Amino acid sequence: MSDQPRISDLARAQPPDYLSGLNPEQREAVEAVEGPVLVLAGAGTGKTRVLTTRLAHILATGRARPWELLAVTFTNKAAREMRERIAAIVGPASEGLRWVGTFHAVAAQILRRHAELVGLKPSYTIIDVDDQERLIKQLLEAENIDSKRWTARHFAGLVDHWKNRGWAPDKLPKAEGAHFANNRGQKLYAMYQERLRVLNACDFGDLLLHNITILSSHPDVLADYHQRFRYILVDEYQDSNVAQYLWLRLLAQGRQNLCCVGDDDQSIYGWRGAEVDNILRFERDFPGAKVIRLERNYRSTAHILAAASGLIAANRDRLGKTLWTEAEGGAKVKVRGVWDGEAESRLVADEIERWIKGKRRYRECAILVRASFQMRAFEERFVMLQIPYQVIGGPRFFERAEIRDAHAYLRLVQSEDDDLAFERIVNVPKRGIGETSVQKLLGLARAGGVSASVAARELVLTDELAPRTRTALSAFLRDMDRWRAMSAATPHPRLLETILEESGYTDALRLDKGPTSQTRLDNLKELVQSMGAFDSLQAYLEHVSLVMDLDRASGEDSVQIMTLHSAKGLEFPLVFLPGWEEGVFPSQRSMDEKGEKGLEEERRLAYVGITRAREEARISFAANRQVYGRWTSQLPSRFVDELPAANVEAASETGYYGGGPGMREANSRWDDANSTFGAGYASPGWRRAQERNYRGGPAGVSQVIEGEGRLVAVSEPSASGAFTPGERVFHVKFGYGRITQIEGNKLTVAFDKAGVKKVIDSFVEKA
Ligand code: ATP
Ligand code: MG
Repeated sequence: MSDQPRISDLARAQPPDYLSGLNPEQREAVEAVEGPVLVLAGAGTGKTRVLTTRLAHILATGRARPWELLAVTFTNKAAREMRERIAAIVGPASEGLRWVGTFHAVAAQILRRHAELVGLKPSYTIIDVDDQERLIKQLLEAENIDSKRWTARHFAGLVDHWKNRGWAPDKLPKAEGAHFANNRGQKLYAMYQERLRVLNACDFGDLLLHNITILSSHPDVLADYHQRFRYILVDEYQDSNVAQYLWLRLLAQGRQNLCCVGDDDQSIYGWRGAEVDNILRFERDFPGAKVIRLERNYRSTAHILAAASGLIAANRDRLGKTLWTEAEGGAKVKVRGVWDGEAESRLVADEIERWIKGKRRYRECAILVRASFQMRAFEERFVMLQIPYQVIGGPRFFERAEIRDAHAYLRLVQSEDDDLAFERIVNVPKRGIGETSVQKLLGLARAGGVSASVAARELVLTDELAPRTRTALSAFLRDMDRWRAMSAATPHPRLLETILEESGYTDALRLDKGPTSQTRLDNLKELVQSMGAFDSLQAYLEHVSLVMDLDRASGEDSVQIMTLHSAKGLEFPLVFLPGWEEGVFPSQRSMDEKGEKGLEEERRLAYVGITRAREEARISFAANRQVYGRWTSQLPSRFVDELPAANVEAASETGYYGGGPGMREANSRWDDANSTFGAGYASPGWRRAQERNYRGGPAGVSQVIEGEGRLVAVSEPSASGAFTPGERVFHVKFGYGRITQIEGNKLTVAFDKAGVKKVIDSFVEKA
């Protein structure tokens, strides 16, 4: 016991005023330490602060020792911050907080102690997604399942889904297993689990699943944890999934000292199995739970808060809450339309430079994107201007596996001697050139002092390799030669596109039903389109090496770039929200896959985005994006329309538009565009619609109209009711057509050229 801090020490370490900085409701939530408590409150109301203070309070009042507290957060970063905040209150005593971490980290610790109960050894390994896929692939092959049709990644996704719902193979509902390989899902799942056990390994999903199995089938073990964990605390509770809920419920059953904080409006992981229903379940499973609501927001100014609240009000599926702030005044949320993605990155970079000139820091600025492909333009701009930046929660754009693969192909086309590139892609996508063959080849190259390509050319003339490998390698070399020959006469974006298609790289991604394959395809499209800005392949590759060479700016004062998903719980003085365009945000995929539910989750994501801002929130949308070298015109996100007009304004100080010369510049760019992009876009209708998008138009459209020499964004109620079936309409993307059906603000239109499409009423005008 001697190395453990004594409670009296803890009490002495307590600063007398840690409770005084709280408002009455927060204080109630902190002091109601016994029994179940649910804090349900909007963004920035101090939920995390309450949780941390509560933990400190429990320690400071001697109710528990640090190792008797279980606190789960969503990310390691959040866990680290929680420790720091507690340390600031209770001092070194916080070091004993062994059980503060993510669900996964804590579950892994518990599993180590009881691994044998699920047939593992305490030394078990946690495999990553690559290993998981490899393992599943072997399994599918052994079972003679067509792994092109039923991919390993698809199955891995299913397994993950089942584990998130707390279903071990013997608990899997019958219908679930039917989804895969003609009703063989359940059997394969059981085999996969058995395989993992033999390997003394588990995947991420297993951590919680094994915990649940152990705790629910060994009452003695469970009782031990009831004894141990005197108090349990959970942050971001709205994003917990069923498995996490079951786990918490098991652990909290004993003492019932469970405190969860969350916000249903910020539930953004439905696609990963998070259940907002867990909030409702809480009161049922823990009868007599105290529910505390916090309504005062301490983070954002009044305009930011009102804009976010106005937006989220459009969601039907919510519990509803009030929010207010004393931070009156402040800037309105700025909404800007720009020409394209490049203009958007220019705008953001300019504003960051202005922020720095105003004696502020880079790290106070965050760029929150919906999809990773959006990062590219910002990263390149920042490299060029030497603005330090950091990508949080994922690789930088140019460091992503698919981007590196694409670059490796290009490098090998450019230079046959690039062995690193050769090694990277000789079997990507899989062509049946296994690791042993590659090692043989590289050994040969080293021995002969030649490049891998040269060695390969020799090798395929011999019988050193198995016939199938030899054929595959010859085909690869032939492909490379063909692309090399093409490269002189083909524009480099087109070259890369061809390589990606002909090598089977994109096909492999398309077939693969894994959760990240679409994102990777989007990133590749973005890559292809961005290459057009360089004169030659060589110039492009040089540029890439420059971008890659930039020191990792971690820890330094740098702009923070991340997805909206990873921004949860964080706050920044200046927040940029780019790409608010239909299809990008809300994401088309999410709407296609989950309809209204998907749209509402997107809207919650927008709410999370705006509420990250303390002083300034700046939304932007581009009129055009280039996809595979073709321009497509974009429509502003419906979320732009949904922002309350009183809290929003369009900025003009950037010079991209506004009454002055800027506007003329923008106009002349549009003229250029009309002549460059061909007849389809130059039609009067297109012109009209573009102008309408930017300078005001029929009701229901997000309008940017001129006022006081500036452009002001206004938003009006949707134009529902303004149309009747049978009416002719015009749509920017699809052209002319006739309305066949109307459902709320959605119109079904039979377009003359584009066929039948569902569109939003505010995006069409009467023809
Ligand atoms: P989110 O929903 O985004 O996770 P949250 O509810 O967890 O937000 P916190 O991050 O805990 O909110 O708090 C938001 C900001 O308000 C923080 O900067 C925090 O320090 C501050 N804050 C919270 N409560 C108070 C208070 N009583 N007095 C002063 N500042 C406060
Ligand atoms: Mg929080």
